[in-house]
Amino acid sequence: MKHFETIIIGGGPAGSSCAWKLKQQGRTALILDKQNFPRLKLCAGWITSKVLDDLEFTKADYPYPILDLKVRMHVNPIPFSFTWFPTRWANYSIRRTEFDHWLLERSGTPVVSHHVKQIVQEEGLYIIDNEFSCKYLVGAGGTMCPVRRTFFSKLRRKEDQIATLEKEFEYPQRQDTCHLFFFYRGLKGYSWYVPKGNGHVNIGIGGLSVGFRKSGANIHDLFKKFLGDLVQEGLLDASTAENLKDTGHPYYLYAYEGEVKRENCFLIGDSAGLASVDMGEGIGPAIESGLMVANEIGGTASYQKRSTSHTSFGGVLGWLAERFWITEQA
Ligand SMILES: Cc1cc2nc3c(=O)[nH]c(=O)nc-3n(C[C@H](O)[C@H](O)[C@H](O)COP(=O)(O)OP(=O)(O)OC[C@H]3O[C@@H](n4cnc5c(N)ncnc54)[C@H](O)[C@@H]3O)c2cc1C
Repeated sequence: MKHFETIIIGGGPAGSSCAWKLKQQGRTALILDKQNFPRLKLCAGWITSKVLDDLEFTKADYPYPILDLKVRMHVNPIPFSFTWFPTRWANYSIRRTEFDHWLLERSGTPVVSHHVKQIVQEEGLYIIDNEFSCKYLVGAGGTMCPVRRTFFSKLRRKEDQIATLEKEFEYPQRQDTCHLFFFYRGLKGYSWYVPKGNGHVNIGIGGLSVGFRKSGANIHDLFKKFLGDLVQEGLLDASTAENLKDTGHPYYLYAYEGEVKRENCFLIGDSAGLASVDMGEGIGPAIESGLMVANEIGGTASYQKRSTSHTSFGGVLGWLAERFWITEQA
């Protein structure tokens, strides 16, 4: 049995940020991830400047393309669009396959390729698959996290689940502007066209699963229609649109209820369901929560789930989004 003070399950932004902060505090940890990095992660790859600030790096430090996003918002069904994106920070796009790998390497923490199946608690220690033991256990395994499944099964509410479909591909002729289509064709959510710095583009749609169930709308049909509309708008050529196959992944919006720590065991990022309620932004909250847990293990601060709203827009817009956007849909 190999023993570590802290074991983090999942090497995404939540896990690697926690590991990076622990390392800064002179503590040792091990990351277990079932996938080998660089790995594919479905995500539009929109991040804010807060992510860079929290992790103490600048655009110049980042070795891959990082694009400043100029965002055009379209509000359907009104034919109304404007170039403005009311978040509190500057907005960028990255490719997750590059970003996550870089963060993991930057954490300076050993990573073992291991698919965690079973976790038990014995005499104050967490035992993972009879192979690894630790004093502190951090669940950073995303939507399907085994730590959440084992110790926090009642944490999330099904009405907070977002269903998504997306595709990221090389498309050198892509536009430089990011387009967001709110309430696209009655979608209880939004669809996006996010350009990346290296001639790639990410196209997708996302909305509360409960909205799809209630309206009977099929997410795959909607995605196909979205591609057709992008062709009409001149954002995509018809032959590319025809050959695109979508892929989906669910995750959870922030819900106030439910604990995210129990004794020396913590949940961070998507495993805790921390995405912002207005935009479904999950990378920033994953990083923030990873840093907070490292600080709790290091004895400098306590990890608490916020009891107030968690929005990307903030201010009045965030308040409105939280009150009407989400509750209207459910
Ligand atoms: C289509 C889509 C678009 C999105 N767009 C954005 C966006 O533009 N901006 C934004 O901020 N957020 C976006 N999000 C949300 C964002 O991707 C997530 O919130 C973020 O990845 C959460 O990070 P994480 O580290 O918690 O989990 P993840 O990045 O999911 O990492 C979890 C890791 O745990 C590992 N793991 C899981 N189970 C096990 C196991 N049993 N054993 C070992 N390892 C395991 C996985 O292999 C994975 O590497 C989007 C999500 C989707 C689905």
